[in-house]
Amino acid sequence: MLKRKRLDEISWELFSALSPDERAPYLVQSSGRPYHALIAQQFERDSLDLLCDLATRIRRIAKSRDGMKFLSDLLCHKRAMLYFSQPSSRTFLSFYAACQILGMRVAEVRDTSISSEMKGETPTDSVRTFGSYFDMIIMRTPWQGFVEEMAWMLSNTERPLPIINAGSGKDQHPTQALLDIYTLQRSFEKNGGLENKHVVFCGDLKRGRTVRSLSRLLTYYPNIRQTFAAPEALQIGQDILDQLDAAGVNYDVTTDFKATIPDADAIYMTRVQSEWDNPDGEKPKYNWADYSFTAADLLVLKRTGVILHPLPRRQELDPACDNDPRAVYWRQMRNGMWIRCALIANIFGREQEITHYYMMNLK
Ligand code: ASP
Repeated sequence: MLKRKRLDEISWELFSALSPDERAPYLVQSSGRPYHALIAQQFERDSLDLLCDLATRIRRIAKSRDGMKFLSDLLCHKRAMLYFSQPSSRTFLSFYAACQILGMRVAEVRDTSISSEMKGETPTDSVRTFGSYFDMIIMRTPWQGFVEEMAWMLSNTERPLPIINAGSGKDQHPTQALLDIYTLQRSFEKNGGLENKHVVFCGDLKRGRTVRSLSRLLTYYPNIRQTFAAPEALQIGQDILDQLDAAGVNYDVTTDFKATIPDADAIYMTRVQSEWDNPDGEKPKYNWADYSFTAADLLVLKRTGVILHPLPRRQELDPACDNDPRAVYWRQMRNGMWIRCALIANIFGREQEITHYYMMNLK
């Protein structure tokens, strides 16, 4: 368990100079629960197991009307602000739904052109404003480091409140990584668990934040092999490989995606993140067909293999695969709602109540 350090006892200059691993203890509560949820590095195996178990309990409790009534009472005294200054469908809606399930009231700013930012207000002042009215901020931004800066800033005001990172630039998407872990865990439940599996990442691994966060969480499961299949220009960052070296993880880096399919237990497809292309510069050159998964590839995928995708997809994942039982991306999407419920409930310390209800009514 991470031993808590206090964000209000460190300057932003010192905090921002720390490595992600060094920042992690500043993001937890003294009980070890997350306070802010900002980076994959702040989660450990224990916290992942807790969140996955909690997500399953919430998912089962939510099946009945009485269960939904119980859940919707848990945080009916809390309000959440969804501040998404970058496009989002699934993350936004699943957080919205998760808040509703737990009884939280929700407000949103998705279009800063109708907020005071158009009058010249800085995003920092906007966040401080939200902090006056809400009990939690769930935030997506195009700027790397901004969510952390806001967490530091709010922790140093008279009204500190938790921030969840719902995607920060090209850097991190920790709650997507949580739902990916939950999906993998569920997928391999009857097949020896997540341990000893081979996970292949394919696509734009350089700018895809979901892979960067998930790669880290996978290091907590024994003997997982990670393969990064991408065109050279879009290959995974050295910082992620250094992290794997430090954790003693077995990995491969390749341009030949198709050759990796027969040995993969999980294939994690991603789209090209072309919104980050330099409009005046050269676009990365590659043949997208080499980095796509088609119905023909189903023939060589293991019978027990699974295909994930954080979505949205483009041509890299053929809709002809959608009805194959190994295509788990639709379930993955729904898992996002359950794991986000679990995370919010955990931040507000409601896990024991949920477990108690579950044991009394569903065990
Ligand atoms: N929805 C994911 C994200 O926000 C993946 C993507 O956009 O490609 O990072």
